[in-house]
Amino acid sequence: MTMPRLIPEQDEVLEMLKRTGAYREGHFVYPSGQHTPHYFQMPLAFRYYDTARVLAVALSRKLRLEKDVSSALPKVSIISPSPGGIPVAFAVREALSAEQIYWAEREDGKRMFRQYVQTGDVHPCVIVDDISRTGAALQETVEIVQQLGARVIGAACIVRFRSGPSRLEVPGSDSVPILSLVDFDAKWYDSGDACAECKQDTPEEHVRF
Ligand SMILES: [Zn+2]
Repeated sequence: MTMPRLIPEQDEVLEMLKRTGAYREGHFVYPSGQHTPHYFQMPLAFRYYDTARVLAVALSRKLRLEKDVSSALPKVSIISPSPGGIPVAFAVREALSAEQIYWAEREDGKRMFRQYVQTGDVHPCVIVDDISRTGAALQETVEIVQQLGARVIGAACIVRFRSGPSRLEVPGSDSVPILSLVDFDAKWYDSGDACAECKQDTPEEHVRF
């Protein structure tokens, strides 16, 4: 009897993202003027229920392997750093049967939860996002979770750029690993001068963010 593979390999996940349009290869130019040969738009993967479910279940299995998470379930809050992470947060919540879900938003450039989320209401937190490029969104979310008096017990995202951190610092406690299905080697060029795709005259596409 062969064991079913519970967590898909990184290549399979990338293939899934490619198929749904969430991962593109080519030549992209950001409003900042930066050039890159790849582009992620994760909501494109989460618009298909089946894909969303496979990705979320895989991530939930990785999370369950963390003792701090598995021992706290189901009294766990799934936290999204922004509205963009809500689809993955809901899907992971369902896969883990976690009791709560919260998401932060930016107001006046500051990340915060909705008013009247009360200190003491929030279960130990697992912060999830669809993609982590610099880790900044996840790390800022640790701060606002702690301001609510809640504990951070885990973190996970579908794609993590290797140029970003692999752990989140949790002041007053142990750091937590940022679990991911794909660890991606991102390539960035500050301008077209150093861009390999520009040198090959690959047609460029301008992306909004
Ligand atoms: Zn270029």
